[in-house]
Amino acid sequence: MRIPSSASAVFGLLLLLPPGSSLAASVSVVTTTEDLAALTREVGGDKVAVDFMGHGYQDPHFVEAKPSFILKLSKADLLIAVGCELESGWLPALVQQSRNARIQPGADGYLDASLSARILEIPTGQVTRAMGDVHPLGNPHYWLDPGNGRRIAQAIQQKLAAMRPADAGYFQTRFADFDKRLGEAEKRWDSAMAPYKGLKIVTYHRSWPNFTERFGLDVIGYVEPKPGIPPSPTHTVELIQDMRRQNVKILLVEPYFDLKTPNSIGRETGAKVLVMSPSVGGEKEVTDYIGLFDHDIKLLVTAIKETGAR
Ligand SMILES: [Zn+2]
Repeated sequence: MRIPSSASAVFGLLLLLPPGSSLAASVSVVTTTEDLAALTREVGGDKVAVDFMGHGYQDPHFVEAKPSFILKLSKADLLIAVGCELESGWLPALVQQSRNARIQPGADGYLDASLSARILEIPTGQVTRAMGDVHPLGNPHYWLDPGNGRRIAQAIQQKLAAMRPADAGYFQTRFADFDKRLGEAEKRWDSAMAPYKGLKIVTYHRSWPNFTERFGLDVIGYVEPKPGIPPSPTHTVELIQDMRRQNVKILLVEPYFDLKTPNSIGRETGAKVLVMSPSVGGEKEVTDYIGLFDHDIKLLVTAIKETGAR
């Protein structure tokens, strides 16, 4: 293969750059989800190169492992994972196959974002297979509380600062700016959701406990009989009865689930089936963390008003 002379000149220049110079300071980050990539971009700005594996429109429990992921991981300085076993079905083998010592669990280049977050639904007793896909470390969909978004961003800031001390001030300023914008956005979301405190809803998967706790909604049931277990006729009949009894008019469905059962529940109960994405990238127009809540809360409030639930 013939390398164009300009490319080889650039390559030669890169080799000559002293460590700590601005080009060499760029941190190569790979995240498991688009949410973590978005938070990393907030803090890292142009001092990081961020890539992700699972798209926001995919079920994060079941991301198809691709050879390209191994390549990405082999070059990464930092891997950021959701943790709480969300990626336990697909990530460990990829990390191992990357043969990258920097990003193995326990190494400095492995950041488990759950360790800095407030985790709900941590089981108290023994976890058995009969309980379905229950995570012994608690519910892994914790990024859907803006308070946790802030905690994750701060953990990323601290990690990047430790890896690139020369840029610590830059990451600190970026975090402070994100923190401020998030605080302003939270006021907007709180006032939009305030009239609906205690509103009863049903969701397909247990993706929303942090979101519903933060915004005061009451989840009375799930389309899945147990987390990760597909709908069953018996459970669906019971759910329909519960929804009628409690006058539930909103059924939230994550974009990667089949709509057949939700639609039939909607027909039986008069509830509105609302497809709502729990992740950045779940819809084309949702490209950052604050935008995810802006989008979802607008969608939800519009649906609540339509159903006349309040
Ligand atoms: Zn889950």
